[in-house]
Amino acid sequence: MKRHHSGPFVLNARDIVLHPGEMREFRVDVPAPEKWGEGLVSIPEGESVLVEGRLESVHEGILVSGVVETDYSGVCGRCLTEITEPVEVEFQELFAYPGEEATDFEVQDDHVDLETLVRDATVLALPFQPVCQPDCPGLDPATGERLAVSTEPEQRMPVDTRWAALQEYTPDHDDEQRA
Ligand SMILES: [Zn+2]
Repeated sequence: MKRHHSGPFVLNARDIVLHPGEMREFRVDVPAPEKWGEGLVSIPEGESVLVEGRLESVHEGILVSGVVETDYSGVCGRCLTEITEPVEVEFQELFAYPGEEATDFEVQDDHVDLETLVRDATVLALPFQPVCQPDCPGLDPATGERLAVSTEPEQRMPVDTRWAALQEYTPDHDDEQRA
């Protein structure tokens, strides 16, 4: 079956195909064509995906290397707060010229389609246990409420301060009355 050479991540490499040693830089900035990833966080459909890199013509095909920059969204694995964080991942793959050996990635009609490559590299870089902050305390097992960080010391401190102030104030007040 002949594939259609269209799609957001399809690059035309006609100018360097079969010219080993030639290389060209590329930049693609497109919305994710679908949701990428099935975990707690994923790349939402329509999220901006920036791919910058270069195509190098080698004897076996076109070597594609680059960096993906995008944002993932989802929920914190501990407290379920919604989070959106940037993710950046490098990739490199050889798109071979069609031959006798079957390969995962092939140059087809002088084009390379980076979509599967970019998607897989990005999904692999997503955190398996995402957190809203490194020391997220999670949810209270009894109430299901989100626990705040360092609740107890913060609640005790003002009480201590007030008592200290009263203790200092009282003797002065007594002195004033006597004067
Ligand atoms: Zn959290």
